[in-house]
Amino acid sequence: MISVYNPRTNKQDYTIFPLSNTSIQEKIAELRIQQNKWAALDFIQRAAILQTWKSALMQQENEIVDALATDTGREAISRQEFKSLLDLIDRWTSTSLPYLPAKSSAIPYIQAQQQDVPYSVVGVISPWNIPLLLAHIDAIPALMAGSAVVIKPSEITCRFIAKLVKTLVPELPILYLEGGAETGQSILEAVDLICFTGSTKTGKQVAATAAARMIPAFLELGGKDACIVLESANLDKATSGALWSAVVNSGQACQSLERFYVHENIYERFIEMLVEKATQITLNNEIEHFNSIGPAISAAQVYIWKEHLIDAVLKGGRILSGGEIHDFGGKWLYPTVISKVNHNMKVMKEETFGPLLPVMPFATTDEAIALANDSDYGLSASIYGEEMAAISLAKALNVGAISINDSGLTTLLFDAEKQSFNLSGLGGSRTGTSSIRRFFRRKALYINQNPQKNSWWF
Ligand code: NAD
Repeated sequence: MISVYNPRTNKQDYTIFPLSNTSIQEKIAELRIQQNKWAALDFIQRAAILQTWKSALMQQENEIVDALATDTGREAISRQEFKSLLDLIDRWTSTSLPYLPAKSSAIPYIQAQQQDVPYSVVGVISPWNIPLLLAHIDAIPALMAGSAVVIKPSEITCRFIAKLVKTLVPELPILYLEGGAETGQSILEAVDLICFTGSTKTGKQVAATAAARMIPAFLELGGKDACIVLESANLDKATSGALWSAVVNSGQACQSLERFYVHENIYERFIEMLVEKATQITLNNEIEHFNSIGPAISAAQVYIWKEHLIDAVLKGGRILSGGEIHDFGGKWLYPTVISKVNHNMKVMKEETFGPLLPVMPFATTDEAIALANDSDYGLSASIYGEEMAAISLAKALNVGAISINDSGLTTLLFDAEKQSFNLSGLGGSRTGTSSIRRFFRRKALYINQNPQKNSWWF
């Protein structure tokens, strides 16, 4: 049994009963059988079934969004997540599979062809910060590839699962499992490929288990995204973008901007404008409204917020807005701008996953690059400034995605491929049309069309 807490009240108001390892193995074995039928369908047939599921989801929109809003303490983003799931289904059901034409090889009478074979059962283990979307972002393309999927959302935000199960159509090979680390390990024992989104610490354990079983692991892990603001930046745009990206979902997003490097000539003005905008944001503790932010979704995260704040202050950091945890049962933090920070502080080096905005000046572009790259992580980043200068600077950053003159664009756009650097992840891109390739093994077929001749022996 696992107790689930409401992030607004900090009261335990939901319980889940994870299945035993034996039951999980049995259910995944059944799913494997179901996958044979699913893989035999063609792309158009699978797309049609996913579209039927989409209609069923739309019938349950309010129930799913309500459960998700209770899980996370914020409603508008929950509704957006739901819309993103529908968009995800539309995107993948209208994209044709990357096509490989048959080719003649160097030996003229041998024809080369390829067959794509989907992995039978794909496991998806996902985190609590964007629960609905991250449970499906890899699952939908895997389904379109012809795989069955077993999905385990975080045990911290899991009440939406019961609502989703009601929408499933019988042909769809999806198994939702409730549970925590143990359930995750049971899944890893049985699947043929794993897509994991979560912390770097857990990601390493998942990678070790996957390596022992020799199954592919696609890992999307933690980050400490930097924002560089060049002297040429539009300061109004830069401060608004910086603030939005640092506080959306109360800073509990993988692509949250968590550290800011601002050219020394505009540093004072940047701080002034940032603080002015940050102090206009309120808390959604009574009612959610425009410009308000939600509580910590996971109670454990609040300890990290506090630890980073205290560490910064003890080492000379100056808090210019927010800075105090507000306890209304659940815990809230106003956007917290901090100056006089340096890289000896946790707030500049470790993932905070909260609405903290530490800002540091730099003198030269080389210094900005060195500071941004001084990180164990390498998920994404943002640069504000003259476009050509920003593009040239982007080349030097050790991260997988960069928004230029904007922030967090990788949450809105999926066109380009991206791969994480350092400890932020491993494996092929989850974005870009060819990301569906991750779910296929390729088979090479060489067909000798010469009735008499072998190529090696006469
Ligand atoms: P977490 O690593 O604690 O948990 C993630 C999932 O793994 C949960 O479902 C959990 O039950 C499961 N799990 C825990 N231990 C396991 C084990 N030993 N074996 C198998 N499964 C196990 O992460 P979290 O706290 O839920 O999420 C926050 C983290 O996720 C942050 O670090 C954030 O940066 C990261 N994140 C990354 C991305 C990305 O795309 N790179 C997106 C969102 C969140």
